[in-house]
Amino acid sequence: MMMPYQPEPFTDFTRPEHRAAMEAALAKVAEQLGRTYPLLIGGKPITKQATFNSINPSKHDQVVGVAALGDRTDAEAAVQVALAAYQTWGRTPAAARASVLFKAAAIMRRRKFELNAWLSYEAGKTWGEADADTAEAIDFTEYYAREMLRMAGPQRLTPFAGEENHLVYRPMGVGVVLSPFNFPLAILCGMTMAALVTGNTVVVKPSHDGPVIASKLFEILEEAGLPHGVANLLFGDPAEIGDYLTTHKDVRFINFTGSRAVGCHIYEKAAKVQPGQNFLRRVIAEMGGKDAIIVDGTADLDEAAAGIVASAFGYSGQKCSACSRAIITADVYDAVLERVVARAKALKMGPAIDGSSQVGPVAAERFHKKIMEYIAIGKQEARLVLGGETQPGGYYVAPTIFADVAPDARIACEEIFGPVLAVIKAADIDEALAIANNTEYGLTGSLYSRNRAHIEKAREEFLVGNLYFNRKSTGALVGVHPFGGFNMSGTDSKAGGPDYLLLFTLAQAVSEKL
Ligand code: NAD
Repeated sequence: MMMPYQPEPFTDFTRPEHRAAMEAALAKVAEQLGRTYPLLIGGKPITKQATFNSINPSKHDQVVGVAALGDRTDAEAAVQVALAAYQTWGRTPAAARASVLFKAAAIMRRRKFELNAWLSYEAGKTWGEADADTAEAIDFTEYYAREMLRMAGPQRLTPFAGEENHLVYRPMGVGVVLSPFNFPLAILCGMTMAALVTGNTVVVKPSHDGPVIASKLFEILEEAGLPHGVANLLFGDPAEIGDYLTTHKDVRFINFTGSRAVGCHIYEKAAKVQPGQNFLRRVIAEMGGKDAIIVDGTADLDEAAAGIVASAFGYSGQKCSACSRAIITADVYDAVLERVVARAKALKMGPAIDGSSQVGPVAAERFHKKIMEYIAIGKQEARLVLGGETQPGGYYVAPTIFADVAPDARIACEEIFGPVLAVIKAADIDEALAIANNTEYGLTGSLYSRNRAHIEKAREEFLVGNLYFNRKSTGALVGVHPFGGFNMSGTDSKAGGPDYLLLFTLAQAVSEKL
């Protein structure tokens, strides 16, 4: 009998045996740094003359892995192999497809500390953040496997005399998965597993900053028994292969998570029907955020400050759900600001592989540069009350807080995607909600309040895909908090929810007259 789905528990690193297991995994991974990682097309490793280095962001002179750089010929080969594999995988029963996912989840659970260690080295994730990334990958895999079994069963239709009627969910064909750098295991895994378990075949193009962890996921899929060609791993420069893949006449869907600019570009390009294409391409695009936490005068101020700091500075603010705006009503503005600054100041910044670090580096040099540019802009626009500095050796940016930020300042409107918090004063809850909604994004938002009327007002008016009360804005759990945003945050696909797999299927109504 199958156990009901439950989110994977997080590892308690205060326990000595877990600390020891993590240290051992880090030591084992350290011996494997600098290896090369090929493309995987039809199960065959493809090495290339052209390669790129994946760098440890905590120590940027350390190469974590060297990955093959694919080109258009590889992209075409990957699409053709996926097309061929679809002929059998698309007809493989749902239970057999789900069984591959159950095995993959079990393997990830067994290799959890090792995956955590790779995430610490390659993505600069502190132990806790790395563990949450791996746990979420396991959750997506377990959850989507169960969801597929549910969808493969009889669907509720209105009985009609003299007919036998069914609604069945068929796969679509070949898809492309384009994943972001910030959850290089969880999001990559969730986006891929959803497409696979519904019977599609895919070309997976992970982030340039996470080729090693992506290769680990493919090792796991191989061990779990996924037939060759069903998922194909392609690294490459998006300028060379991006449009080629997203406008390919045989690519039926694109599963993209990343920035607003790239998402909009893909959405537009993919819409054009190419010669020989006999379907409308589907685009699932999950994009950026400028997420706000509101605090009013009735809130528990310590809890609110803790929630703001965790949401703003966890993984150095590089979460689409990160709090980048704290909007505080005037009656408690000074008290909350003081508490937030005190908590943020106490955070220990250091290498992600060091178990005592609470804030690691940002993931790559280009992000470091962009964040420092925004900090310079912030200094012109508002009052810097904490941080702003860097640390040598890695791509470090200290937790940074700007106070008295105008709601229309650039640092209050544009996604910085780093450890930079804009604190904004509002006269009352009405103004706070108006400021929170005054963004082109609509991903997550929180309100800390003990005023029932304020909570109900926010429930009606706070326009975000994931709305939280009296808790942080990050840390959505698969199956518990289906995740996806409104407006320029994307297509609101609600990953990790009961509607997600529908996006990868063609629903067919089948009726037989009796
Ligand atoms: P990005 O847009 O730079 O890249 C995302 C992926 O798209 C990468 O694999 C990249 O190589 C690829 N890509 C880039 N240009 C392409 C093109 N022209 N054609 C095809 N593929 C192309 O994003 P990023 O910097 O890796 O990730 C950070 C962004 O992702 C932030 O904006 C963040 O808010 C967002 N994000 C959103 C969610 C969500 O669920 N809404 C989750 C995580 C991250």
